Amino acid sequence: MEDCVFCKIVKKEIPSNIIFENEDVIVFKTIAPVAEHHYLVCPKKHIASFMELDSEILSITKTAQEVIKKFEIVDGYKLIFNGGKYQEVMHVHWHLLAGKLEDEDDILKKT
Ligand SMILES: [Zn+2]
Repeated sequence: MEDCVFCKIVKKEIPSNIIFENEDVIVFKTIAPVAEHHYLVCPKKHIASFMELDSEILSITKTAQEVIKKFEIVDGYKLIFNGGKYQEVMHVHWHLLAGKLEDEDDILKKT
């Protein structure tokens, strides 16, 4: 989608800090991290809503598992999947949070 910031990151039209990518999924550092490891896990295809996801969910899940292993954070992480009006960018994505958290009470107990 033309105006989608995540699609622009996928096409490398705007700079980002990509930490992992494969054919279907891209993972990059968020611009506003709240954790030592704070990455966004996105399908490369523009999918606006969690409810529109089909088989893509498998590759997104597998990629998140690979990143968790790569950064050796298997002992503790949080995956947050936003949807609909609670997404800031209307392109489905998981927030993967691990390591030292900026506000542990908020992140662990309220989400
Ligand atoms: Zn998009």
